[in-house]
Amino acid sequence: MELGLQNKKLLITGGSRGIGRGIVLAAARAGADVITCYRQESEAVESLTRELKETGGQHHVVRADVGEIEEIDRLLEEAKERFGSLDGVVNNAGVISHIPFEKLPADEWSRILDTNLTAAYRVIQQALPLFGDGASVVNIGSRGAAAGIPLRAHYTAAKSAMIGLTRSLAKELGPKGVRVNVVAPGVIETEAFDDMPAERAEGLRATYSQKTSLARLGTTDEIAGPVLFLLSDLSRYVTGATINVDGGI
Ligand code: NDP
Repeated sequence: MELGLQNKKLLITGGSRGIGRGIVLAAARAGADVITCYRQESEAVESLTRELKETGGQHHVVRADVGEIEEIDRLLEEAKERFGSLDGVVNNAGVISHIPFEKLPADEWSRILDTNLTAAYRVIQQALPLFGDGASVVNIGSRGAAAGIPLRAHYTAAKSAMIGLTRSLAKELGPKGVRVNVVAPGVIETEAFDDMPAERAEGLRATYSQKTSLARLGTTDEIAGPVLFLLSDLSRYVTGATINVDGGI
């Protein structure tokens, strides 16, 4: 059995850094053509573009803020122009903030909901006309959302809602041949760890490692694997599922 992602057309949001970058590169190395987006220009965007070139295939790295409906619509227009159709979508772009609930401003609530939840609604809705039979949607949730996390009520509300969105769409779109699933990561070591003081990064690694059965944090490749499985025909009878990828928290 093979993944069979060669020449599949995929849209993956938030590919410039972290988990999204891992998914984009893994998909490109598996032979898929990828369109991905980012919010702000950075060295990460340039290095992703260079790495994608080395994989061959048709890849497009475009600036589009998925917190804005108009920018999502423009991104999907671009996907249509470049690819004509899509075989899969990964709603990965996400933002987080840590604020006591009693002080959480309405505009911050909206910003977090817009990027972590509303973006998925709009991306999927606009992608539907581009889907062929057997299309797959993967929504990136969060393992912590199910348990609840202090100071992140807005973020966990959005991530928990991704599961309801996924289950309803799995039922509604299943008869049209579209599968919809969630991958819920535990604590994954991204570039964010490189950007913090070494002592703090070590402290976080130690704290979170103790909470997992595998006694360590996850890597971006370890999220990319289950995402590629859900995008591929290997999972063609899997829909409405949430796969926790958390080292056994
Ligand atoms: P990072 O902050 O490392 O990367 C986020 C990526 O998304 C970047 O490429 C960023 O682009 C892009 N992005 C953010 N907001 C937007 C936007 N409005 N429009 C377009 N692109 C955007 O995040 P992670 O890799 O850690 O997280 C990825 C996903 O995984 C998120 O949905 C997150 O909630 C989820 N997750 C992560 C966990 C972890 O431990 N890392 C645990 C559980 C869930 P830019 O470079 O331009 O900012």
